[in-house]
Amino acid sequence: MDLPATSDERLDAVLADIARYAKRNDRDPADIALMAVSKTKSAEDIRPVLAAGHRLFGENKVQEAAEKWPDLRAAYPDVTLALIGPLQSNKARQAIQVFDRIDSVDREKIARALARVMQEEDCQIPILVQVNTGEEAQKAGVAPMEADAFMAFCREECGLDVQGLQCIPPADDHPAPHFALLGKIAARNDLSILSMGMSADYDAAIAMGSTIVRVGTAIFGARTLAPKQ
Ligand SMILES: *Cc1c(COP(=O)(O)O)cnc(C)c1O
Repeated sequence: MDLPATSDERLDAVLADIARYAKRNDRDPADIALMAVSKTKSAEDIRPVLAAGHRLFGENKVQEAAEKWPDLRAAYPDVTLALIGPLQSNKARQAIQVFDRIDSVDREKIARALARVMQEEDCQIPILVQVNTGEEAQKAGVAPMEADAFMAFCREECGLDVQGLQCIPPADDHPAPHFALLGKIAARNDLSILSMGMSADYDAAIAMGSTIVRVGTAIFGARTLAPKQ
């Protein structure tokens, strides 16, 4: 099957998929949010998706989002923007100014920095904790064994509003066991948001209880790669 040619048509196709996968799993499609991941895409690439009525977006870099989103937000004030990539503590203040939720919190240093700048700026935005379900050395996220203690730290020591979990399964694994593990950690910590599933695996993620699927390529098309040498 050919992909539709424009991003607003691909958005419709992904929404239709989500509804289909939800039904197949006896789930209400309204319980599954689509986050359009617009990293590396220009404001001009993003506008058609906004014009089509979509409002939930994810970006993976603070600086890039700070450059693109103020103008888009001015035109579409009801946008919700989440940071889904790693955060450095020296960018915490800018992050809470640009984003509505930080979905990638995974270290005490970041939790502390966020708590401090939120207090200084007199705002409280929700966070998700990222779990490194595959325990990959190079990947962001708290280890599954440490997730409960880290969440307790975020909530009790930092006063952060932890609402859910995010994971990115290892590229070479079947994602389902990773999604199941994330669901288990969420259930025992009373968390309602499960951000899991990307373009290649949101079908499996919805089957495992995902409440947010993060879809970039299937909406915006392939991201431009660095030029080959
Ligand atoms: C890029 C990215 C996505 C979207 O990936 P696609 O495969 O393009 O759908 C989702 N989540 C995170 C954390 C990302 O960095």
